[in-house]
Amino acid sequence: MAVTLDPSDKDSGSKDEKKKHGHKLSVPELIFGDLWEYDPAPETADPRIRSRYDLFIGGRFVAPQAGEYFASINPATEETVTEIAVASAADVDSAYVAAQMAYETVWRTMPGRERGKYVYRIARLLQDRAREFAVAESIDGGKPIKESRDFDVPMAAAHFFYHAGWADKLAYVAPGRTVQPIGVVGQVIPWNFPLLMLAWKIAPAIAAGNCVVIKPAETTSATAMKFAELLQEAGLPDGVVNIVTGGGETGAALTGHPAARKIAFTGSTDVGKLIMRQLAERGTRMTMELGGKAANVVFEDSPIDQAVEGVVHGIFFNQGHVCCAGSRLLVQESIAESFINKLQQRMETLRVGNPLDKNTDIGAINSREQLDRICELVESGVAEGAKLYQPSCALPSRGFFYRPTLFTEVTQSHRIAREEIFGPVLSILTFRTMDEAIEKANNTMYGLSAGVWTDKGSRILRMAAELKAGVVWANTFNKFDPASPFGGYKESGFGREGGRQGLLDYVDLS
Ligand code: NAP
Ligand code: MG
Repeated sequence: MAVTLDPSDKDSGSKDEKKKHGHKLSVPELIFGDLWEYDPAPETADPRIRSRYDLFIGGRFVAPQAGEYFASINPATEETVTEIAVASAADVDSAYVAAQMAYETVWRTMPGRERGKYVYRIARLLQDRAREFAVAESIDGGKPIKESRDFDVPMAAAHFFYHAGWADKLAYVAPGRTVQPIGVVGQVIPWNFPLLMLAWKIAPAIAAGNCVVIKPAETTSATAMKFAELLQEAGLPDGVVNIVTGGGETGAALTGHPAARKIAFTGSTDVGKLIMRQLAERGTRMTMELGGKAANVVFEDSPIDQAVEGVVHGIFFNQGHVCCAGSRLLVQESIAESFINKLQQRMETLRVGNPLDKNTDIGAINSREQLDRICELVESGVAEGAKLYQPSCALPSRGFFYRPTLFTEVTQSHRIAREEIFGPVLSILTFRTMDEAIEKANNTMYGLSAGVWTDKGSRILRMAAELKAGVVWANTFNKFDPASPFGGYKESGFGREGGRQGLLDYVDLS
């Protein structure tokens, strides 16, 4: 029920009674009482999702040869959103044939300034249909609309705009060298940023003159297939981009295909290692964007309220389904108690629920399988002796939801401090000195990202140099720009996406 704010209201009686009877609450009751209730504010744009999607091969939608489809569900309601085709090895082969043909007959010989126009047109169309894509992304994947609307879709368009600008300037990617496209590239992406990861893969590849066969993740293929429609609208020559859907087997057929001159993979470290082993004998080029267990390091002189916001955003953003999530908080011992108190207060105000509601902070966990994994790891945290805190918020009765969670009294040997949880779960450790912070932050097999919060510039510079992570944010977290390369150290993978460095991974130099 909505409550109206009226400072003159002096009625007595309990808050619940008042609300039940539609009475107004006084200002102090509103400020110090329950969390302010908002009216529902659902985003209503039509996502225009078809009831069934075929494969996108050679510029056309074609039925899978075995005639098999699977249901893609809305994780917030568990209802079927659409049916997606399962591509067999034979379908994947057709996609590579189409890509090879497009590469040899059209794309490799097209002048860069012409290629750039197509990439630019894709960016414009995505921008024009941004709201529709954002709603589709939230329905199919569970992320809050404010994230798909304000981050995923605009950032995906930004990647196409940025790379459109490079298409006729490739000579400047490596001055003094001859720059050529690689050929046909196979790409596989995960479910946490479905459209954005697709943009990170396709934009640099085609801007540089390559053709693509790409597979989205099984649980989040809808926006990739909507993107295929958009490619038709843009008039992209047939076969330059081919999209095949299905599960791990389709992925294995794609990454193992002999026509792939390069494989670009984003996903878990385990599957990444499997692919690396498969390709080891072949000399196929590879880039691997894998898991992470980032540390957010908060020093006692940091801007505390800003740091609390940054830590909250860093781990609860997108339900913690973020490879570079700040899933370990390292806080200096002198401020640990007050910092954790503030964090807990802030967590009380987070809204978990309908991904399509504009007020929702934490949407649905992407799948039941992922929810089970989060539950299992949280249980291990409790069993190993860490102390759990969760706010009291209500969860919807249907769908896959999880409360924002934090753990104190965590040691470095606990599974919750070592393994990627990929959910809204924060593990807190403390430190006394900068050296101890560096040692603890680097004590992981991963190295994708890190955050530093301090007032001291010299400390930021030393931390940035010592932290073994592909990106180190200072007094902010999870900031992205297409011009800025992103990628891992250690078991978080190799290769970069974005910027000039990202383009170098999509060209041959001589
Ligand atoms: P995943 O299980 O490794 O799956 C990633 C993709 O690989 C999916 O499309 C998957 O298909 C496919 N796949 C599964 N088995 C395969 C095989 N044997 N051969 C080829 N492809 C196969 O990862 P996820 O659970 O989707 O995504 C979460 C992981 O991605 C996390 O570890 C996260 O850190 C990482 N990630 C990294 C970055 C980065 O930039 N470094 C960015 C985002 C996510 P199905 O889904 O259909 O099974
Ligand atoms: Mg789905």
